[in-house]
Order: sequence, then C-alpha cells, then structure tokens
Amino acid sequence: MSTPESPARDHHRSSGDATPPPADDGFRAKAREFLARHAPGPMEGLDAAEQLRIAKRFQAAAYDAGLIGITWPAEYGGQGLTAAEQQAYDEEAAHHDLPTGVFMVGMGMCGPTLLDLGTHEQKARYVPPLLRGDEIWCQLFSEPGAGSDVASLQTRAVRDGDEWVVNGQKVWTSGAQFADFGALLARTDPDVPKHRGITMFIVDMHSPGVTVRPLRDMTGRAPFNEVYFDDVRLPADAVIGEVGGGWLAALTMLGHERVSIGGSVRRGSDPLAFDNLVDLARRRDRADDPVVRDRLAELYAHERALALFNTKLRQEAEAGASPGARGSIAKLAGAELLWRAVDTAGLIAGPALTSWEEGDAAAEEMAVAINGTPASSIAGGSNQVQRNIIGERLLGLPKEPQVDRDVPFRELKVGTQRTP
Ligand SMILES: Cc1cc2nc3c(=O)[nH]c(=O)nc-3n(C[C@H](O)[C@H](O)[C@H](O)COP(=O)(O)OP(=O)(O)OC[C@H]3O[C@@H](n4cnc5c(N)ncnc54)[C@H](O)[C@@H]3O)c2cc1C
Repeated sequence: MSTPESPARDHHRSSGDATPPPADDGFRAKAREFLARHAPGPMEGLDAAEQLRIAKRFQAAAYDAGLIGITWPAEYGGQGLTAAEQQAYDEEAAHHDLPTGVFMVGMGMCGPTLLDLGTHEQKARYVPPLLRGDEIWCQLFSEPGAGSDVASLQTRAVRDGDEWVVNGQKVWTSGAQFADFGALLARTDPDVPKHRGITMFIVDMHSPGVTVRPLRDMTGRAPFNEVYFDDVRLPADAVIGEVGGGWLAALTMLGHERVSIGGSVRRGSDPLAFDNLVDLARRRDRADDPVVRDRLAELYAHERALALFNTKLRQEAEAGASPGARGSIAKLAGAELLWRAVDTAGLIAGPALTSWEEGDAAAEEMAVAINGTPASSIAGGSNQVQRNIIGERLLGLPKEPQVDRDVPFRELKVGTQRTP
C-alpha cells in the first residue's frame, strides 16, 4: 500500500531521536565512510533493470558492512544494536540519496510482520535475504472491490491436501514487478463473518499461475501493478500466523505500514524536502519574501513535529509497545505535510512548476513529485479512513455502522470479482 518509488529508510525497531544515548563514534565513522564510498550517484536516465541492479548491490554491501537491520534481532540476520546506532546511520544516510525505495515494503512492513507472527523457520528462511536485498517483497492486500474495506477481499485460498490453491486478483501492488515474495491476504472460509475467514500467506511471486501487469499512474511511471492468481499452489507452511487469523496479521502489517510511511523522511534530492524548497526560494529570489519565509517556517515546524512524533513511536516500538492507532496520525500527518510542501513550492515558483524547458531535469522531477502527491493521501489507507480510525480508536467517537459484522461472508453482496 506504499510506493517503492518513494524514498525509504530503515524504520523497523529503530528509534532515532534527540534523546537516546549517542552511538559509539566508531559506528558513525564506519557508516560515514561506507556511505562516502558506496552510495551510488544519481540514477536518472538509467533503465529500471540497471537501477534495480545498483539498488541491490548497494543494499547487499550495506548489509555486509553491518549497516542494515541495525536494530533487528541478530538471530534473524539483524545487527542486534540499539536505536542510537540506527539514529547515527540515519543521520549519515540523510546526506545521500540512497536507492532504498524498492526495499521499503519488505523492510518497513513484511519483515516486521514476519518477526511478529512468523514461525522460527519462516524468520530464519526469509528475514536475512530480505534485509540483504537478495529477495524483494510486496504486499498483496488491495483488490478492485476491497481497498479501504480490505476485509471484503474475494481472492480465495482453498485447501487441497498439503497445499493451498489460490485464485483471484489484487491491484495497486507496489513493486510487484520486482518482487520475489509477497504477503498475500486470501479468503479461506467464506462461511464465517468477513473478518474471521481470512488468512495471510507467503507467496513466491515466481510460482506458476502468478501474472503481474503494470499500471501507469499520472506521473507517467508505473510503480504498481495488477496481480492475478490462477490456481497458484502454496505449501501448508506458507501461512503467516493462524489459518483464519489473517485479519490480525493484516492489522499488524498495516500498523507497521502506517508508521513506516508516516516516518519516511523527505531528504536528498527530493524536490519537496524542506532544504530543497529553501534552495528553490533562493534561486528564484523569493527567500526574502515575508510570506514565503512564513510558509517555510511553518513547513519546518510541521516537519520537525512529525519527526519527533515518529521518533517517539519508534522508541516505544523498541520498548515493545505497539503504536496502535497512533500510526494513523503519523500516516495522515505525513500526507498533509506533503500537500503543505506542494503549496509552498507553488507559492515560490508559481506557474514554473507546471511548464519547463525541455531537458530541465530538476523541473521535471519537481513536476513528478507534485503529480505523485495525491497518491500519498490514498496509499496505505486513505486520509478519510485514517481519520475514522483516529476518531473511533483514539478519540472515542461513535463507531461507523457495521451491518455486515455477524453475517457470513458468503451471504454478503460485495466486490466486483467473479467467484472463481
Ligand atoms: C501509491 C499507492 C500504492 C499502493 N500500494 C499498494 C500495495 O503495495 N499493496 C496493496 O495491497 N495496496 C496498495 N495500494 C492500495 C491502497 O491501499 C488503496 O488504494 C486504499 O486503501 C484505498 O482503497 P481504494 O483505492 O479501493 O478506494 P476506496 O476504498 O474505494 O475509497 C474511495 C474513496 O472513498 C473513501 N472512503 C472509503 N470508505 C470510507 C469510509 N468508511 N469513510 C469515509 N470515507 C471512505 C476513501 O477515503 C476514498 O476517498 C496503493 C495505493 C496507492 C495510491
């Protein structure tokens, strides 16, 4: 539910912040030296296959240098270090434009969910190559008739001897075109109410019967896909958590997702990052305009407030406390921050944001970033749905009516897919 084209960082179990005790300077020096030597340069103009190759090479080198999965358990390939080391790495990494987006779904969502709910065998098999970037993951939740209401999903998994047979369709699957594995939600029992008959599976994206078709968005890029499952066979040990426990698994992953998306820091060459907007104001001779200054100051304050809030969530996660519904605040505030940055860019540059000279790569990148902004209010659950969650679970407002709560899924009229 997030896009691998957006910059991502290692958030899981990290808690970078102003407060944790400082990391050993040797660790910071190691990170700085590694990044100076290995951070790849700009990738504009390279084709997708070449970009992927460079991203994988960087991730593997960073992993081998002990700089990926810094706070993840050593038993499953992590470094077993503390939030302070993670923070030191994040601070050093913020000086570079790293190609980590393609690993975001695995690092931010699938890996943390495996650590929470997977068996020892699943964690030992899947987490180390996920961290090293040898295997890329995607998240197979949304369907044409089940986006905000994921529990209405119709993709079916039917038990056949020792295996499960999957049929159905997913949509908006970020990064499926690169993925080796996916975390799939499928209906395994249509005779119980919708939230109870779902199971989460690990699916090998190279299995016979899996078809991935790209979807182009309004930036002109194709960050996500439709994925079709035609009699795809999964082994019994592909289940994550309990059979019928897929809703809990989904909530676990969505919680990680909201913190991960909300906590993504705009940095490096991202044209909507605060520093780059200040630069833009200087280049356009607008840095002394009091209205521009006021907006930039406001943007900075919101960016800092969100960063501190995310830090707190990560620190609590480190101490074993789930962010729960507060992940929705991070996600919502992150999306709103982006709109604020777009407004500020508009105030600074005006119509130049939408028309530019052929070959002006910086202006084009800005246009792509602006066209990509609406997606941030939808990906990972729309703003409206985050507000519902905040209202119901944090503010104690009345719940939305749930007429289908106790009705077996089979009796509901939902979705747009044929029953396979
Ligand atoms: C960039 C991007 C990447 C994505 N990546 C993935 C991915 O990797 N994997 C994946 O599984 N999915 C992914 N998604 C899908 C995403 O999670 C869904 O698009 C999202 O949950 C919304 O669902 P929907 O598109 O079906 O819209 P709908 O649920 O049909 O919503 C339509 C509108 O109705 C509103 N609405 C719906 N229900 C309510 C309600 N109860 N109260 C108030 N308003 C409501 C919504 O907020 C929205 O404005 C991605 C989406 C985007 C944009």
